[in-house]
Amino acid sequence: MKLIPEIQSAHGEIQTLRRTIHANPELRYEETQTSDLVAKTLSNWGIEVHRGIGKTGVVGVLKRGNGTRSVGLRADMDALPILELNTFDHRSRNAGKMHACGHDGHTAMLLGAARYLSTRGDFDGTIVFIFQPAEEGGAGAKAMIDDGLFTRFPVDAVFGIHNWPGLGAGHFGVAAGPFMASSNEFRIEVKGVGAHAALPHYGHDPVFTAVQIANGLQGIITRNKKPVDTAVLSITQIHAGDAVNVVPNEAWLAGTVRTFTTQTLDMIESRMHKIVENIAEAYDCSVKLTFRRNYPPTVNSVEETKFATMVMREIVGDENVNDSFEPTMTAEDFSFMLEAKPGCYAFLGNGDGDHRELGHGEGPCMLHNASYDFNDELLPVGSTYWVRLAQRFLARE
Ligand SMILES: [Zn+2]
Ligand SMILES: [Zn+2]
Repeated sequence: MKLIPEIQSAHGEIQTLRRTIHANPELRYEETQTSDLVAKTLSNWGIEVHRGIGKTGVVGVLKRGNGTRSVGLRADMDALPILELNTFDHRSRNAGKMHACGHDGHTAMLLGAARYLSTRGDFDGTIVFIFQPAEEGGAGAKAMIDDGLFTRFPVDAVFGIHNWPGLGAGHFGVAAGPFMASSNEFRIEVKGVGAHAALPHYGHDPVFTAVQIANGLQGIITRNKKPVDTAVLSITQIHAGDAVNVVPNEAWLAGTVRTFTTQTLDMIESRMHKIVENIAEAYDCSVKLTFRRNYPPTVNSVEETKFATMVMREIVGDENVNDSFEPTMTAEDFSFMLEAKPGCYAFLGNGDGDHRELGHGEGPCMLHNASYDFNDELLPVGSTYWVRLAQRFLARE
């Protein structure tokens, strides 16, 4: 592994920052202490700081030489509404809030890079450090873009990292093209006419209709979607009725749709309307489908992914970089940044969980688990990646 020695020797300082953030988790758009800490730390290192972009977002700008190229490096800062089960010293002090997705580590790795780059002149151009709020369901990336992130701080490309439990500590996993799915939710309200359960012909049964709808919607995945396109439609809630001998007046269903492309998503949404409305019509019920698009698919651009992969290989060696890592159907709001700019989102292995206390849940302690902890071993790897990525990117023609 080719880590930058100055970054390795600052490990204690960055680890302390990481653990301070871990101990003081804040939920989406409430990251006031965290953004204070980030802003103060950046300006102590002589980096120009801009605040209040996307409510609690922070941007640091570092410029050297006459180079006209610029690069955006992004970390997220928010925590989750989870009661932490860990008992180590840096466990959450805010009951019911927890850094269970490792955004404390993402913030610390980017700070580690900023620390090094602020004292070194060995790059030519502009580095934009993006500390975003509200990745967990709040679309903080979009809020920053809507507040002029890329018009006020133009970048040629933008890059992001997420730690990934189960992937070897310090290994990288990445793929060009769709890497994470779009995330969308729907609710279907079926209104019928209630009746005695023994005399259903006096009513219009919304339960039976809801079940036909649940069944019918899966036909989109098997009959309408191109088999080589990936998508999943899951109905996760069906609610109706209060008694065994009464046909109720209404029923509702809800669920999620995940796709890797917007075209597939458009097709699914429009087919859902047709199927839902026509099935309801067939059984004399009325129906309302509400479909909400949350995060678009996270799509890595080919050129920037090839470039980022080269940087990863330089640091951790060919054998520790998987550039055809299996995409996941989970979602990520960095997708909004990748819609606006070319770039690459990659996973950095968080290891098999040996670094943490044994807690609940099996396996390598996945994200969003109350016994999760970011692996501090990754800090110098992530910081070195950010530094080399920025230097190499700015030096390109
Ligand atoms: Zn998360
Ligand atoms: Zn996350």
